[in-house]
Amino acid sequence: MVIVMAPQAGETDLVEVVRRVEAAGGSAFVSRGVTRTIVGVVGNEAVLESVDVTHVPGVAEVVRITAPYKLVSREHHPRTSTVSVAGVPIGPTTFTLIAGPCAVESAEQTLAAAQLARRAGATLLRGGAYKPRTSPYAFQGLGVAALRILADVRAETGLPVVTEVIDATDVDTVCQYADMLQVGTRNMQNFSLLQAVGGAGKPVLLKRGLCATYEEWLMAAEYIAQRGNLDIVLCERGIRTAETSTRNTLDVSAVPMVHALSHLPVIVDPSHAAGRRDLVVPLARAGMAVGADGVIVDVHPDPERALCDGAQALHGDTLDELTVAVATIPPLLGRRSAVTADPMPTR
Ligand code: PEP
Ligand code: MN
Repeated sequence: MVIVMAPQAGETDLVEVVRRVEAAGGSAFVSRGVTRTIVGVVGNEAVLESVDVTHVPGVAEVVRITAPYKLVSREHHPRTSTVSVAGVPIGPTTFTLIAGPCAVESAEQTLAAAQLARRAGATLLRGGAYKPRTSPYAFQGLGVAALRILADVRAETGLPVVTEVIDATDVDTVCQYADMLQVGTRNMQNFSLLQAVGGAGKPVLLKRGLCATYEEWLMAAEYIAQRGNLDIVLCERGIRTAETSTRNTLDVSAVPMVHALSHLPVIVDPSHAAGRRDLVVPLARAGMAVGADGVIVDVHPDPERALCDGAQALHGDTLDELTVAVATIPPLLGRRSAVTADPMPTR
């Protein structure tokens, strides 16, 4: 059981809630978020039945749900949520294109990639400042210098920024520059990072772990929600299977299945799923067809020279094909697409 306190609830309201939980024989776990406080209640069935806080001042709602994840479950919120990223919606009535370089390499490369993204119809810019690389000898990202570049490119293009945070100690710094915090596949079960981003007051893009089940993924989202942040977008980015010709296997079932289990929006990342450019647009189309709320793709002005994931970066014709798909397929399924027939002019 989870007790959600109203934003205006005071300390005495919270003390009363905890007192009632403990009087019923339960344990109360208080999480103070930026906008609201949540009290998790642990105890047996009889304890949960006897906790009565419905008329305590400051209690916004009491969530009694049998699934192990509560706040992110579909039972908690029958309608799919829309998450706003600096005014850009990600949700059930729209289709959002997020694009940009895998990694920020320089101001020039990031601006050029952002202009490609914008012309293709993207409304959010992605770009890694801290890169979680398999090899310690590979390019690790430019860190704070990259965050500054992303903020400058946002000022130049108007595109809000999505960027990954890989360490809980960097969350405050990343928040000074980013509009949305990404938690990558390798960190999906880094619980202290999830708690830190949950308390940061920014929307979160939570990628599915390389081998994670839907339940594990949603439990990871619950860690963020439990800190008072329900502005979470889930991202299917491919899982590890027996196949070796693609980097990962895009699990298209994840989109309708997780939509059935959770009210959170779900997008797909065909770039990191495939690892190869020629499959990105076909997989993006598949994501659209199964009801994804958006796609996130890598673009690069000069993929041959990219310091990270150049083989999967779109540019030129492949990017134009993606624009056509984003403009045509989601409207067939009743969604407003961020991309119109006339791509936006470059500024
Ligand atoms: C990325 O989006 O740059 C990234 C590293 O993705 P993933 O965590 O899905 O591998
Ligand atoms: Mn990458």
